[in-house]
Amino acid sequence: MGRKTRQVRVRDLVIGGDAPISVQSMCATHTQDIEATLGQIHALRESGADLIRIAVDNKSDVAALAEIRRRTDARLVVDLQENFPLAELVAPHVDKVRYNPGHLHHLEKDKDVRLKVEWIAGIAKKHDIALRVGVNCGSVAPDFLKRYDGDHVRAIVESAAWHCDLLDELGFTNYVVSLKDSDPQKVVTCNKAFAERRPDVPIHLGVTEAGLLPDGVIKTRIAFEQLIPLGIGDTLRVSLTLPNERKHEEITYGRQILADISAGRYVSVPDFGKGLNIISCPSCSRVENADFVELAMRVKEMTAYAREHKLTIAVMGCRVNGPGETDDADLGVWCGPSTVTLKRKSETLGSYRYQEVLPVLRHELDRIIAAGVR
Ligand code: SF4
Repeated sequence: MGRKTRQVRVRDLVIGGDAPISVQSMCATHTQDIEATLGQIHALRESGADLIRIAVDNKSDVAALAEIRRRTDARLVVDLQENFPLAELVAPHVDKVRYNPGHLHHLEKDKDVRLKVEWIAGIAKKHDIALRVGVNCGSVAPDFLKRYDGDHVRAIVESAAWHCDLLDELGFTNYVVSLKDSDPQKVVTCNKAFAERRPDVPIHLGVTEAGLLPDGVIKTRIAFEQLIPLGIGDTLRVSLTLPNERKHEEITYGRQILADISAGRYVSVPDFGKGLNIISCPSCSRVENADFVELAMRVKEMTAYAREHKLTIAVMGCRVNGPGETDDADLGVWCGPSTVTLKRKSETLGSYRYQEVLPVLRHELDRIIAAGVR
């Protein structure tokens, strides 16, 4: 454990330095279903969650968030996604806000990113809350991708470091950084490179869209077991595709992984990642059809026959992030309210009802295998 980061305060929780690694999760309930969201917050806290993220997309969600804040003292985080102007409305009700550097260009296109960050940092300062600069492989800021000529790892690391430098210049240091990907080895590479670049900045670790059990936990372990013993990682989330009533297991697995690493119990999975890779999102309040989790499970069962083939199938829960997050997969499905859209890489093949999509997916998978791709 060689690295000692500076300390960030999320209300009474300290992240970084010699503080214990905190464990966080996210509610997958509809934020406006206040009772269900409070129920999930309660279950996550009972399992030991230090910090709980809530999805907020619009003003009705903000109103629900305010009511949730009144009824729980859990530490709450909101992810601004593309809608960074919401920062002003959510900040009074949360302890931390996450912005994604790759999403800042979507709104107020003519405004300099520096000014947008300055505005967000000003709000965080005013409300005495923390920030997370959350860089995600699926949504790297286009100017960084261009600058590093498509070198994804470099673009991710440099984008994160640029935002750290800017926040420091603005006199705001109460922030952590995350560099996430669905490929655990890429998570290791990016986080090692960032930790070298900015050894002082606390890191939030996670393998995004790790997916269903048990693979989701295995992928997460592969990354965490290589990073945490080096002192890289100050807070973490295990992102799993789970039914709502089992969402708290993200916390249980997170705590178990930490206990195993600290006791020197490493899970060696030498062949993992050599065959079929199913990635699926952990779901959140944006899921518009509760059948998403079951569909993800059925995709896994149905594709078991192809487990020796080195292909990636992505299953995503919503039409907000689903279309972009499936672009790199050999085959992808993203779920809308009543239909599921099937893609081959970035090409859309069609939209199907939930009960119709599996045979079509199988047909496309057979075609790829027959073509001898891998
Ligand atoms: S893909 Fe959509 S439903 Fe899934 S976690 Fe991301 S935003 Fe939520």
